[in-house]
Amino acid sequence: PRKAAADVRACLEEVLSVLEVQFQKSRIEIRRCFADDLPHVTLDAAKIKQVFMNLLINARQAMENKGSLTVSVQSEPDKNMLSIAISDTGAGISDLHIDRIFDPFFTTKGPGKGTGLGLSVSYGIVKQHGGDIVVESAPGNGTTFTIFLPLDEDGR
Ligand code: ADP
Ligand code: MG
Repeated sequence: PRKAAADVRACLEEVLSVLEVQFQKSRIEIRRCFADDLPHVTLDAAKIKQVFMNLLINARQAMENKGSLTVSVQSEPDKNMLSIAISDTGAGISDLHIDRIFDPFFTTKGPGKGTGLGLSVSYGIVKQHGGDIVVESAPGNGTTFTIFLPLDEDGR
């Protein structure tokens, strides 16, 4: 992978701008919550943008028509990680499914609508970066995916 110091906020904004029209059409409001002075992290920006794209498309699909999307980025020095949380007010994930969502080809979207690869690929990319993805969901209320990416050792 081509890793270099990157600005996670800029990566997110780039992906959000590609999806902006779709979010507007679905009447989804976007809220941003970026901590000041976010450190750069070493990453393969193209791959991490793919992760953001996968999670944001899932969020939009979970909200169908109307909702709110919150994107938060903060540094977690106690964990030595940067955290990126993507929260939606969509359908949520049933307890029956939540243990399987990162499995390749697991989808609840029906034939021709979902490949079930987005989360599995995203999980692999984040693990390649020494990070992690965790999910919390309340069926009927929404879902939050949090991506953790290791901070650079010099803490820039
Ligand atoms: P796909 O989107 O092609 O179905 P993914 O790997 O991206 O495949 O997601 C797997 C499954 O996880 C989805 O089919 C859906 O059931 C569930 N899922 C993922 N993200 C969300 C979300 N934000 N809200 C509700 N369900 C989700
Ligand atoms: Mg998907």
